[in-house]
Amino acid sequence: MTPVTAGAAGPSAASQAVPCEICGNRQHDFRFEKDGYPFLRCRSCGHWFVPWTDTDQKLFETYEQNFFSEGAYADYQRDKPALQRNFRRLVERLRRIQPAGRLFEVGCAYGFFLELAQRRWESEGIDIHGEGIRHARNTLKVTAREGHFLKVQLPEAHYDWVVMWDTIEHLRNPGDYLDRAARILKPGGRLALTTGDVGSWMARLQGKRWRLYYPPHHLHYFSRATLGRLLRDRGLEPEVWTTVGVTRTLDGMLYRLLADRKPERRRRFYEWLRQRGWTGTGFPITLDVFDILLVIARKAGGQG
Ligand SMILES: [Zn+2]
Repeated sequence: MTPVTAGAAGPSAASQAVPCEICGNRQHDFRFEKDGYPFLRCRSCGHWFVPWTDTDQKLFETYEQNFFSEGAYADYQRDKPALQRNFRRLVERLRRIQPAGRLFEVGCAYGFFLELAQRRWESEGIDIHGEGIRHARNTLKVTAREGHFLKVQLPEAHYDWVVMWDTIEHLRNPGDYLDRAARILKPGGRLALTTGDVGSWMARLQGKRWRLYYPPHHLHYFSRATLGRLLRDRGLEPEVWTTVGVTRTLDGMLYRLLADRKPERRRRFYEWLRQRGWTGTGFPITLDVFDILLVIARKAGGQG
């Protein structure tokens, strides 16, 4: 792949002015286009991103339309057992580090993580997705609110944990979210997050076909180097870097392989399988291809 410098023409023209989220540099190389979006790489720090030059509101609308059903997920709620297997492993990891106190989840969706976390920590969450929050509150009875993490009132230096599962890559301005996370953490409190690793062998091998290159829902593509820098700049020192496996149902996997953003004929084949019950929703498979990072970073101060 030959990198082409973003020029005055084409989809990357407007994006020239967008500063890099990590280092502020405005010089980027255009790497490729996928689904109509330009992928840029910062010339200074190497950060990969898709510039979003419209408002947050316009970005959020892309979720209301279709993300949790017939979008990125065939049916998020039907995948709950598989999703909660992932979350149980995360609860277990967090518990071994700090088993008590208060936890705040940014991007809690339908509340599937909070449902598990509230048994151990005093837990609450926020999401912009109204339907998800209604499910979280009314059905799962967890503490969750609909709103914008950067705009709601929250106590400072209050939480032992702030968690963001597969969320940071969705944000237009992840640095602002980490700023706020750092402020609401107690001294010695920890931020835990998962996100795709653009430096992984999977991403390098697959190039633009990598499944996590998913615009406009995924806008930022971190490596250990760029994410580490974004965290340290906010006084959050990474303590744990590892990869996590992902559990999916067979149905969830087939949906991604055959239907999500795929040609009509493949979509119809998926529907045909599903109508016959052959995609077996209750069949979870766990796979770790080492391209999803888990990082846990600690705010200075406090006890050990
Ligand atoms: Zn940069």
